[in-house]
Amino acid sequence: MQSAVVGFHTDEEGHWVADLACGHGQHVRHDPPWMQRPWVLTAQGRAERLGTKLECKKCNKETPVA
Ligand SMILES: [Zn+2]
Repeated sequence: MQSAVVGFHTDEEGHWVADLACGHGQHVRHDPPWMQRPWVLTAQGRAERLGTKLECKKCNKETPVA
């Protein structure tokens, strides 16, 4: 299921997590060289991605919203 990004927060380890409209969160790590998401480290980069949609794996598995 595609779910819109409504915000971002960081987890206890400092990794960025996208808040999705469905109520789930999804990690959007910048962890080079494997994960290249330099945009997530800047407020502007995150703001530009508000409203974009991510495939929510948790919805696909019908994971309850915590
Ligand atoms: Zn979801």
